[in-house]
Amino acid sequence: MAVHPQIDRDKRLQLIMALQTTLDVGTLIEIFSHHLQALVAHRAVRYLNEAADVDVATAELGDRGEEIPLSLESESLGSLHLYCNGACSEAQLRVAEALAAALIHPLRNALMYREALNASARDPLTGVNNRSSFRSVLDREVELSRRHGAPLSLVMMDVDRFKSINDEHGHLAGDLALRSIAQCMLGCIRESDILFRYGGEEFCIALANTNLAGARKLAERVRRALEILVVRASGARVHVTASFGVATLGAGEDSTRLVEKADQSLYRAKVLGRNRIATQDDTDPALKPR
Ligand code: GH3
Ligand code: MG
Ligand code: MG
Repeated sequence: MAVHPQIDRDKRLQLIMALQTTLDVGTLIEIFSHHLQALVAHRAVRYLNEAADVDVATAELGDRGEEIPLSLESESLGSLHLYCNGACSEAQLRVAEALAAALIHPLRNALMYREALNASARDPLTGVNNRSSFRSVLDREVELSRRHGAPLSLVMMDVDRFKSINDEHGHLAGDLALRSIAQCMLGCIRESDILFRYGGEEFCIALANTNLAGARKLAERVRRALEILVVRASGARVHVTASFGVATLGAGEDSTRLVEKADQSLYRAKVLGRNRIATQDDTDPALKPR
């Protein structure tokens, strides 16, 4: 670390030790700000890394503050933004820069850890969330829905006769179709809606703050978008349709029950002829759930 006359050895060591205790980027910035406070009084520290899609601050701020670029060898690690009480002096900035050197390696490790976590939650074929994060995300949404008394709905979707796409056009065309389907679905949903690849050719959308009627509308929008989607694969024009099951969280129900209801509705949509939507409310006694 760069030597600075105002930063004694103990302070530096205390910061280095504290930075070893977490792999969370936000917590690292909190720790850094806490240790810097003894040397440079400030209102907040913000860390920005657009490439890694990280923007964390120790307090809500409007402008960008004084910038301290961070890099390791030739790799940019984004930048710190320091907000002093009034304008930062040159001397204050030099102290902050010198202390920030201790942040570089822990920050790089935290960014790598974050990237690995993100990658493990993504489906490599389509890039959307995979099944491994589905339960924990849905449990969290159920909890939030209960706490805020807001509706929560789930749409389960299964591509119709997908096996015949593989059989007629080959497995690579099938893969391409799945990628196009996922992109098409992403184009239909809001930022707060969470899309998962649930299985081979099955997808799920968790819809916070959305009741059954709203979820049905969204499913209808996706159904229509898929109906007109053309996947071009090895000279062929491949068309797809999909069936949808829609359910909403009822009082006292958990995520398992929500999935069960959406799954049973999806089964009905298949039995009723595919390329359609069924909801937990359209009960047909002739169609027993699986
Ligand atoms: P249904 O309308 O009843 O849903 O018929 P289906 O053919 O879609 O259903 P089925 O479950 O019989 O077949 C699903 C097919 O999806 C079979 C499987 O090979 C294919 N599949 C699953 N995952 C992938 C994948 O990652 N890539 C490709 N190309 N195909 C996949
Ligand atoms: Mg299936
Ligand atoms: Mg299918």
